[in-house]
Amino acid sequence: MKRLPTLFVSHGAPTYALAPGLAGAQLRALGQRLPRPAAIAVVSAHWQASEVKVGSSSRPATVHDFGGFPPPLYALRYPAPGQPELAQRALRLLQQAGWAASADPERGLDHGAWVPLLHLYPAADIPVFQIAMPHDLDEAGALRLGRALSPLADAGVLLVGSGSLTHNLREVRFGDGAGDAYVTAFADWVRDRLQAGEPPRLAQAPQGRRAHPSDEHWLPLLVAAGAAAPGAVVEELDGGVEHGVLAMRSYLFQA
Ligand code: ZN
Repeated sequence: MKRLPTLFVSHGAPTYALAPGLAGAQLRALGQRLPRPAAIAVVSAHWQASEVKVGSSSRPATVHDFGGFPPPLYALRYPAPGQPELAQRALRLLQQAGWAASADPERGLDHGAWVPLLHLYPAADIPVFQIAMPHDLDEAGALRLGRALSPLADAGVLLVGSGSLTHNLREVRFGDGAGDAYVTAFADWVRDRLQAGEPPRLAQAPQGRRAHPSDEHWLPLLVAAGAAAPGAVVEELDGGVEHGVLAMRSYLFQA
């Protein structure tokens, strides 16, 4: 079996589910050209726990983990099955790498997982499971977490880190398509680091803390980078900027 690439996606606002725009079209085209995965493992900004968790449900529910959005959003479902066997394999890899980790058979799919997957694999016929980040994860830990999960890509699992390349919610202006200059400068800097094969560090980035007042939407990028094969070719999908400050960029780390 050919090794699959790893992927980071910016999942935008929940309304991205209903308004795919450029980024959604890019994900749809990507899903059509990637080799079909045996399963998808998502590390989402929206699942953090006391230790690493692996969702092991065979029928993960679609979780609408947001409030105050239009009713049609709450009617959406992503009925992909789970993959308990590969989830157990992920768990063993994590434990072998020294992580405190356990299975969670109850957990469904949060919007960090199902919203981009609606665009990437709209048929919802590829099994999905999620992996939670521990609350105290830092950048070095996120890279290590990715490395621990990297063998999954050899087993046909598409490893997806789902966050947002920039994520300052205090600056969000819903519906504003004109991106702030710092957002583009930050995103370009990240792209250049990734394409040079250097994991980007927030402390070194221009206006890093403005782009990410907290870490949870940033770390999934480092998980995806850590899981990538050494010397992976990094392809950027630039979906523009939504709501003024959410850079909709995704990165494919090609094996
Ligand atoms: Zn989010």
